[in-house]
Amino acid sequence: AAKRNGGNAFEYFEASMNRSAFERLVLENELREAVRDDQLVVFYQPKISFADGGISGAEALVRWRHPTAGMLSPGAFIQAAEECGLIGEIGNWVLRRACRDAEAMRQTGIAMPVAVNVSAMQFESEDFAHRVIEALDESGLPPHMLELELTESTAMRDPERVIAQIAPLREMGVTFAIDDFGTGHSSLSYLTRMPFDVFKIDQSFVRNMMDDEHARIVVDTILAMARSLKLKTVAEGVETPEQYAALRELGATLAQGYLFARPMPLDEYERFAAPGGFSASAVS
Ligand code: C2E
Ligand code: MG
Ligand code: MG
Ligand code: MG
Repeated sequence: AAKRNGGNAFEYFEASMNRSAFERLVLENELREAVRDDQLVVFYQPKISFADGGISGAEALVRWRHPTAGMLSPGAFIQAAEECGLIGEIGNWVLRRACRDAEAMRQTGIAMPVAVNVSAMQFESEDFAHRVIEALDESGLPPHMLELELTESTAMRDPERVIAQIAPLREMGVTFAIDDFGTGHSSLSYLTRMPFDVFKIDQSFVRNMMDDEHARIVVDTILAMARSLKLKTVAEGVETPEQYAALRELGATLAQGYLFARPMPLDEYERFAAPGGFSASAVS
């Protein structure tokens, strides 16, 4: 049963796979309240350019400020949101928030191209493109400042449809990334035809690349493929200076990870991204 007092947020919403029907019901009702009562927040994690050590934008990552359990990570509720049909609403909310935040930052003189995660269900809904255009219009954010991240499995589920769905947005200047790349089952022939701009190398490969030859080969292969396709790459989950140095050597474009910063609230990001707020050479 839901553990209201004592145990921390992670115990409270642990093991989303193994929840009882009752716990699931409690979670779904609370999630509805969360959407209604503005309990969701968006954190931002910077991406660092290997070329100059500068900040090149941020990924928007949703959090739930739960009234009793504290700050919850998406792992605790995204799957439930998909199962109870709330993911569309949550996804659109995150998209609008991220566009508004990125535009507000732009107005203060800090360029923050923002990357937003899109779930399969959200992406496959009829009005997806319309919602993206709406979020851009109402915020005033230039389309080229918005990147949408689809996981490899979402991107490969129905490639022809994906190509058709993203074409109009991409024509406007919105860019697209394949998230968690390397963990799915990409068809090589489709990959070369898919209109994506960025591969995000899954953090499992980055985590293991220093001691596992296989992980390193996967990283190297993804980077080589990206080069031939003229795509950018983001290495996710960079935690050590050794990983950063190896990835630079191998030719990755951008790095994202705890080595530089954890996801943070917008006001913190603003200080981080302000002149003098961050230096890659200080951590690597
Ligand atoms: P993701 O899109 O692959 O995001 C990267 C995750 O890795 C984030 O976890 C981030 O906090 C974490 N991370 C970044 N650097 C490091 C590092 O150096 N070490 C480690 N161990 N982890 C690192 P987070 O925020 O818990 O999000 C988890 C997943 O939830 C995301 O994975 C994404 O798939 C999903 N998600 C997050 N926000 C949204 C959203 O607004 N909509 C949808 N549909 N999914 C979201
Ligand atoms: Mg992502
Ligand atoms: Mg990822
Ligand atoms: Mg992931």
